[in-house]
Amino acid sequence: MVLYPVIADRDVFGGFLNNNRLLSVEKPARYMGGEMGTVTGREGGLSFVLAFPDVYEIGMSHLGLQVLYGVLKGVPWIKPERVYAPWPDMEAQLRLEGGSLATLEGGMPLMEADILGFTLQYELSYTNILNMLDLSGIPFLAAERDASYPLVIGGGPCAFNPEPLADFFDAILIGDGEDAVLEIAQCVSDWKVEGLGKPALLERLSKIEGVYIPSFFSVSYDALGRVAEIAPLREEYRSVRRRFVSDLESAHYPTTPVVPFLKTVHDRVSVEISRGCTRGCRFCQAGYIYRPVRERSPERVLEIVEEAFGNTGYDEVSLLSLSTGDYGCLTPLIKGLMDRYAAQKKAVSLPSMRVGSLSPEMAEEVRRVRKTGFTLAPEAGSERLRSVINKGVTEAALLENARAVFGAGWRIIKLYYMIGLPTETMEDVQGIIDISREVKRQGKLAGSGGDVNVSVSSFVPKPHTPFQWEPQISEEEIVDKQRFLRTELKKKKLIMKWQDAPLSTLEGVFARGDRRLSTLLIEAHRLGCRFDGWWEHFDKVKWAQAFENAGVDPRFYHRRRELDEPLPWDHIDCGVRREFLLAEREAAIAGAPTPDCREGVCTGCGVCDFDEVKLRLNEPVPFGTYAVEVVPPQAAELAQRIRVRFEKLGRMRFLSHLEQQTLFIRAVGRAQIPIRYSQGFHPHPKFSFATALSVGVESYAEYMDFEVDAGFSAQNLLDALNGTLPEGIRVVEAAEISMKAPSLSVIMEKVRYRVTLPETLALDLPGKIAEFLALESSPMRREKKGKVVEFDLRHELYKLSSEGCALEMVVGRGKPSEFAAAILGVTVEDLKDARLEKLEVLFAEVPAVETPAVETTAVETTAVETTAAAEVTELPKAQACEAGAVL
Ligand code: SF4
Repeated sequence: MVLYPVIADRDVFGGFLNNNRLLSVEKPARYMGGEMGTVTGREGGLSFVLAFPDVYEIGMSHLGLQVLYGVLKGVPWIKPERVYAPWPDMEAQLRLEGGSLATLEGGMPLMEADILGFTLQYELSYTNILNMLDLSGIPFLAAERDASYPLVIGGGPCAFNPEPLADFFDAILIGDGEDAVLEIAQCVSDWKVEGLGKPALLERLSKIEGVYIPSFFSVSYDALGRVAEIAPLREEYRSVRRRFVSDLESAHYPTTPVVPFLKTVHDRVSVEISRGCTRGCRFCQAGYIYRPVRERSPERVLEIVEEAFGNTGYDEVSLLSLSTGDYGCLTPLIKGLMDRYAAQKKAVSLPSMRVGSLSPEMAEEVRRVRKTGFTLAPEAGSERLRSVINKGVTEAALLENARAVFGAGWRIIKLYYMIGLPTETMEDVQGIIDISREVKRQGKLAGSGGDVNVSVSSFVPKPHTPFQWEPQISEEEIVDKQRFLRTELKKKKLIMKWQDAPLSTLEGVFARGDRRLSTLLIEAHRLGCRFDGWWEHFDKVKWAQAFENAGVDPRFYHRRRELDEPLPWDHIDCGVRREFLLAEREAAIAGAPTPDCREGVCTGCGVCDFDEVKLRLNEPVPFGTYAVEVVPPQAAELAQRIRVRFEKLGRMRFLSHLEQQTLFIRAVGRAQIPIRYSQGFHPHPKFSFATALSVGVESYAEYMDFEVDAGFSAQNLLDALNGTLPEGIRVVEAAEISMKAPSLSVIMEKVRYRVTLPETLALDLPGKIAEFLALESSPMRREKKGKVVEFDLRHELYKLSSEGCALEMVVGRGKPSEFAAAILGVTVEDLKDARLEKLEVLFAEVPAVETPAVETTAVETTAVETTAAAEVTELPKAQACEAGAVL
């Protein structure tokens, strides 16, 4: 008897990992935890929960959260934990069960956390923050939370106007978090030991550079409803200056990030090669709040990539920066990366490229592996408007660049534009169509052809930019302009993507909102608003009701702000001087350019102290500086097949077949197994599974075949995989088999399952078994994604017995839950508390074969072949068969 391996006592469902309730929600892997790179089992200490107010796949793609998790992970007395917003189906389950939202690592209800830190990434996630507090039984208002509640803090780009959230947060970190997060943790830890009240904690936190305590300021409003005064309640705490990490070179970087089981938005190693941008695009908040530019050295980037590839098993690295093309040594760095990884089929992606930054050498390097998409951002359709926003891109340069990109082999260029920019006319909007068509024509001129995807967002004025005083265009105007663009671009056979107008309208309210919006958020949450950034969840009617109930007019927040009007974020000092922003606004009206200070002339934005805080740029180096001798991997001429049996237990039962495939692809990469690859554009490691196990079933008998270089023994494979697989997946046997041995799906005949029932269902099992065995037939009808499958359960049953509360069966086709439901006369849903185990696979006898390694030619195959269990109909009912020699 194998004991049930309890991996966690509690989870988001307060113990549901140990039953199958997670099966009733979409993508259980969102909530099961246990990913590589996580830390569990730290007892005592300070629990610091990093909360991301959006769904797991979005949150797991956010580099900032990975960085902070890595920082906290490095301190033994801190328990780092994560939690993401539950998808509506999960929220419904949670409310039904009355459980608390809890962390993925320790299954800790959020209420028990010492610190609960939210990432404030975008305005449309604000209702999710309230929902996560609500699902944890934590009062929304900071004023209603005493020292018995977690300290609720926030940080991220939206912290630069924290006012709409001011009533909910105890403290908000403005700026870079790598150092500050540890100072906050230390402060809370010391305070806990001393046992003082919450006011004492807030006083201490306010002494940490970059920490804003909203309750230490009082805001008043004038007769027109505008902010009249933001009054500091402490003489020495009048404004909060942003926190800086002055030098990225020594800053922490997560080279052992958490590797998700699920496919996430950015499924790759992400390396921030520089922070900040001084190009000075006047609409871009990130260009002001992350100044000055601080570049990581190429040597350090190469080091990070090497470690991260080894620790994650990813096959792509993304070089992140606000403007990757500006990075000082980009071409030599890409050459260095390509020399090291191209032969291993690892790709480099460059998410944002400036017009004119693709050198011929760079194009040549990137084409050594697959192309990962090329994006250009002219932002506006006319040169006049591009001068207003200080984009400084001429049409000629854009077209020349497009020609070079198509000529270098890219098939699609994505073009980003905005509508609603200050001073925009319909001529500028028409310019989007004209220039996009011209860009497409460059493909023909380059002789390669190519397509153009046009992405159009709506301008939302943001705090701390020269356009912070400008009005936002109305929802109606956005819709009209989008309709015009869609129609005209379609005529030119160009595909357009856009953000829906109501979302931009709502974003605009919170982007420049004040403290009174807390009432609106509470009301919107009460009415059921969630995931407002997701069009399928955004509810315009509920939001309209919330505005009405809260007495808020959205147009008030979209209006032009007077230059002498106090702005809600005036007490937040991002480092850039107000006078500079005003001068830039004047320059915008005049269409005058402001040069990039990285060229050598400071334009006086005010952020640098030229001692610690200053531009940190890499010196240019020759093209081949980081080159290494390219040694193609010495793939053995001969290949061999290895068959393994592995277990999939505990929480791993919630992994879908696709997620399990990804898990093994990453594990093979991490373990550096000399696996053979398919050929083609996207080479895949050559391994295949016997069957797809149903989600929710644990298994002691999963089988896979690997094709590896000859000489890599079965024992090597077993050890290498077990050294890197997550808890719950373990290879138990491995053996070399003939290259010509039949595939697993061909020789698999039957499966032995055990279904352990809750006591309430395990009544008179012998009687129910006898009844079922006496049946002539038991039809089964399954419908999935429009496909209907029908078969006879009775006919597929070969052996059936019971012991205590467990049914044990040998079956051909069918799921154990379907058999158990039919035997007991209940529904599959009624079995949610049953434990389902696959104990054994019974194979047809396999003739003994020689197992010489043979020369193979890699052929393009699907990465992972899966075949449903072979149908076995000719064998008598209820008769066990002998297992064939499979390993
Ligand atoms: S202070 Fe000068 S050098 Fe520093 S970021 Fe601003 S403009 Fe550039």
